[in-house]
Amino acid sequence: METTPGQTYAEETYDVVVVGGGPSGATAAHDLARAGRSVVMLDRAGRIKPCGGAIPPRLIRDFDIPDHLLVAKATSARMISPNDKQVDMPIEGGFVGMVDRDVFDEWLRERAVEAGAERRTGLYERIDHDADGVARVCYRPAGAKDALALQSVRARTVIGADGARSQVARQTLKGADKVPCVFAYHEIIRSPKGEANGFDANRCDVFYQGQLSPDFYAWIFPHGDTASIGVGSAKKGFSLRGAIKSLRASTALKDCETIRTEGAPIPLKPLSRWDNGRDVVVAGDAAGVVAPASGEGIYYAMIGGRLAAEAVDERLRTGKVAALKTARKKFMKANGQVFWVLGMMQHFWYRSDKRREGFVKMCADPDVQRLTWQAYMNKELVRADPAAHAKIFLKDMGHLLGLSPT
Ligand SMILES: Cc1cc2nc3c(=O)[nH]c(=O)nc-3n(C[C@H](O)[C@H](O)[C@H](O)COP(=O)(O)OP(=O)(O)OC[C@H]3O[C@@H](n4cnc5c(N)ncnc54)[C@H](O)[C@@H]3O)c2cc1C
Repeated sequence: METTPGQTYAEETYDVVVVGGGPSGATAAHDLARAGRSVVMLDRAGRIKPCGGAIPPRLIRDFDIPDHLLVAKATSARMISPNDKQVDMPIEGGFVGMVDRDVFDEWLRERAVEAGAERRTGLYERIDHDADGVARVCYRPAGAKDALALQSVRARTVIGADGARSQVARQTLKGADKVPCVFAYHEIIRSPKGEANGFDANRCDVFYQGQLSPDFYAWIFPHGDTASIGVGSAKKGFSLRGAIKSLRASTALKDCETIRTEGAPIPLKPLSRWDNGRDVVVAGDAAGVVAPASGEGIYYAMIGGRLAAEAVDERLRTGKVAALKTARKKFMKANGQVFWVLGMMQHFWYRSDKRREGFVKMCADPDVQRLTWQAYMNKELVRADPAAHAKIFLKDMGHLLGLSPT
């Protein structure tokens, strides 16, 4: 067998190395292994992804998520305004699924392994190229401390699914270090028993209050025995911990046992390129795809992982590097409009308490509720009801032009 410099005798070259075993990477690894590709899924060990864990029914359907992974099913959302006005938005005949990310992500990784992916635990370092042009993914195996302990694996293609601030993206794609982010922080608490303290185990509470977040929102999400109390903001110097302290005090959840406290960035703008025109494509948070206004990213990470897998499969089948571009193209075709609308919403409604007050008031409108839930649950802008859209549009214009009483 012929070898090239850097390659050892009889060393295997994999079709793809997926860096990251979160929702995006585990989905890509699963799909490619199921398609018969040789796959290494490289994930660093031991960190639970900080996350509210809310997922829509479309995700549960499209990615065959079993019911036992849902630790709670929220059947309504409560929107709370700066003046403490509360608007309940019940979900007719449906629910928002809640997952615990330690269990959910591990289940996704194991499903990828069952499909044939080889799992490796270690910290991604960099991609080199051997003399024959094939990529060599270098990583530090779990437990290794010094640089000499680096290991590597040869790969025809690489999927970077290593989350926000992705090293793969930063090393291979221009502008990846400049993605705007919201920083989110949450505390996992032991849920109060029953409906004590106004807590409802079947309801997601969303706080649109400038004192809790000057540019995003705060939340209380039920997770069965536990709950996530969190907040996001892109404002430098704003105290996320302070906001959660005051939210817990105001909702009388301050005495519930705190199990974990953790935070992470949420990227809010898709990268303009997801592939390096050669052998790398990124997906999920690594590609910057979290929905503006809501911060929802799990569904988009899994769709991104699936599209990256399709693009890599086509690249391997045809030898055409242009195939890698299809991941972004297809993603933006399906979701670009929704991201644009949500971006406008965030820009307009999250600006001041006056506007937040108007936003929460608007959420009481049955048309707004119906369209919001349909869009969230099915991940499509609802085109079927032009009259309702027109009504919402006129209300928006009223606020924009200052004609609205709020
Ligand atoms: C506080 C908070 C609350 C959120 N709440 C929600 C919510 O309720 N619903 C929702 O839909 N979205 C929510 N999101 C967003 C959601 O968590 C992300 O969009 C989603 O996890 C992205 O998935 P991913 O697979 O792209 O990245 P990640 O989930 O971040 O997975 C990346 C993986 O790569 C691994 N990795 C990273 N670096 C390396 C490396 N160098 N070497 C090897 N492995 C590496 C990590 O260990 C991880 O397993 C929230 C985010 C935050 C921060």
